Amino acid sequence: MSLSGGIAVPGFQVHITGSTIVGAGYAAAAWWIGDMPPMTCALAGGLCAVAGMMPDLDSGPGIPLKESVAFAAAVVPMMMLHRFHQMGLPMEGMILAGALIYLAIRFGMSWLLKNYSVHRGMFHSLPAALIAGQVAFLAFSAEDPLRRYFISSAVILGFLTHLVLDEIWSVKLGLFGPKVKKSFGTALKFYGTEAWSNLLSYVLVIVLGFLASKDASLTERMHTMRQQVEQASRQYAPTQAPWQYRR
Ligand SMILES: [Zn+2]
Repeated sequence: MSLSGGIAVPGFQVHITGSTIVGAGYAAAAWWIGDMPPMTCALAGGLCAVAGMMPDLDSGPGIPLKESVAFAAAVVPMMMLHRFHQMGLPMEGMILAGALIYLAIRFGMSWLLKNYSVHRGMFHSLPAALIAGQVAFLAFSAEDPLRRYFISSAVILGFLTHLVLDEIWSVKLGLFGPKVKKSFGTALKFYGTEAWSNLLSYVLVIVLGFLASKDASLTERMHTMRQQVEQASRQYAPTQAPWQYRR
């Protein structure tokens, strides 16, 4: 346990351990029960683990900030490869777009976080968890809509794990039963104390939600179209090659 500004918070190790365990469980369950491809499960588990560090991006320069920003800068462009491909970008365009996103996250986001974020502000909130999930949903485009929901839920799950751990740490078991600390209720919340950041968060939730729902209906339509084409072509090719069988 570490102390930051008089508020007892679980440290970086607690968070990364917690969200890694939850992420591994989520990935394993999806593989065994949900019949998800193992690679998709592994990606979801990893994203859940990383998302467990994200809320503490507001705690100023330190390991979580440096590591998560660098990680996001590297992984987000890769998650967007399929998206770039859909946009019809040539290889050179994909490399340029990837590099630009890397720079924007690596330097732009670090600068914003260092200068404008307040610890236990809106980064520690339910709308922030939703925003993280919506961004993942928009960045990660897959042919199968279910895979997109699965991946973005992994990010939300990791984020929520962090918030829940923060709340658990704010309840201390004393001699006379549980004692609640000052920080109780500052992680799992719908709004914070600053009006502008509340407004910004909800505007983001609505705008991203609108974009995500537009995008979702598009992928669902493409998915049905592809299934129809597959069905039609199957009529002409009744025997499947052995490598086409699914697990
Ligand atoms: Zn936290």
